Amino acid sequence: IFDGVEKGAPIEVFALNKAFLEDTCSDKVNLGVGAYRTEEGKPWVLPVVKKAEKAVVDDATLNHEYLPVLGLDTYAAAATGLLLGEDSLQIKNKNAFGIQTLSGTGALRLGAEFLAIVMGRRTFYYSDPTWENHQKVFLSAGFTDGHYYRYWDPQLRGIDFDGLISDLKKAPEGSVIILHACAHNPTGCDPTKEQWVKIADVIEEKKLFPFFDSAYQGFASGDPVHDAFAVRYFVERGFELFCAQSFAKNFGLYNERIGNLTVVQRNPATTAAIQSRMTLLVRFMYSNPPAFGGRIVGKVLNNAELRQEWMESIKTMSSRIIKMRSLLRGELEKLGTPGTWEHITNQIGMFSYTGLNEEQVKIMIEKYHIYLLASGRINMCGLNEKNVKYVANAIYESILA
Ligand code: PMP
Repeated sequence: IFDGVEKGAPIEVFALNKAFLEDTCSDKVNLGVGAYRTEEGKPWVLPVVKKAEKAVVDDATLNHEYLPVLGLDTYAAAATGLLLGEDSLQIKNKNAFGIQTLSGTGALRLGAEFLAIVMGRRTFYYSDPTWENHQKVFLSAGFTDGHYYRYWDPQLRGIDFDGLISDLKKAPEGSVIILHACAHNPTGCDPTKEQWVKIADVIEEKKLFPFFDSAYQGFASGDPVHDAFAVRYFVERGFELFCAQSFAKNFGLYNERIGNLTVVQRNPATTAAIQSRMTLLVRFMYSNPPAFGGRIVGKVLNNAELRQEWMESIKTMSSRIIKMRSLLRGELEKLGTPGTWEHITNQIGMFSYTGLNEEQVKIMIEKYHIYLLASGRINMCGLNEKNVKYVANAIYESILA
């Protein structure tokens, strides 16, 4: 009965990673997959995470009973507090709450299912370009009508802000607008504070629904408050919104699948109804979430000393990325590489949109064994002091080829 099953399209980032692993060249560099790497090119288990893991394992009061369907309260509240600020009025007034989800993707999926199934929403907008999963997650959740809003201007190597505003103005009332809270993936370009004000004006005026995606809080700038600016600004202005949070990058807990869906709404009396419908959606999808990641993040965020240690670790990660940006730009400029390269240091977060075209990317992969997405996106974490010259030279040669 399965004879007619045809293969689906490959997932670019995983295919790229596989090709990298199979490549036997000793100079190979992986700038594809979105995960942090140390100066030695290794994954990093944050010391504070190790500590919290040990405490969880040694805690004799814990067991493997099911968690509630919406997850661990203490964790979800801490995640929402990290996003909105512990002194947030919305939290105090019970207008905001969190739901533990299967990482950021799970939060997006649950939020999208709620909007499609419970609220009957069908139309959504995403930036052009965006993280490749946004569209697919929303379509899988029941949305049928996806559109992009302009974002990246290749000439400017920055945001096409007029295009963005004009596209949002055309969105029909009730459309769901996916916004990257910080460290836009893949471009690394975030709106300025003044631009966020204008985006919020249009969303308010056109009665659109903001759905933030926060996958890099603290990891982007080293300061979780700075990285939460956009979400907090919208919340302080009185918007009702969803925000998907991921602790994959900022805690290095990629495979623990630990995320949170923060819901902000105006009427605390509807909290119970929203939670009940969310409970049913989760129950029919995966029943309830796993505990380990939530216990770790909850322990760290709810303990002043551990939280401080985490703050130091996110500074370590973000400052290494910022240093790599400046080294790469410096090398490219030293070589006299055609084009301008300020965008490499202006961009924020893990990714940089280099501006390399598909042909140049092909040369980078085939000739230099440097793996990056066809869009020209590179993960800055794949760079280190030993390979940055090699990568810069390959970019130079690919552009001249
Ligand atoms: N949104 C964006 C923009 C991302 O870059 C990522 C991670 N690549 C995610 C969401 C979610 O990832 P995860 O499901 O691993 O938390």
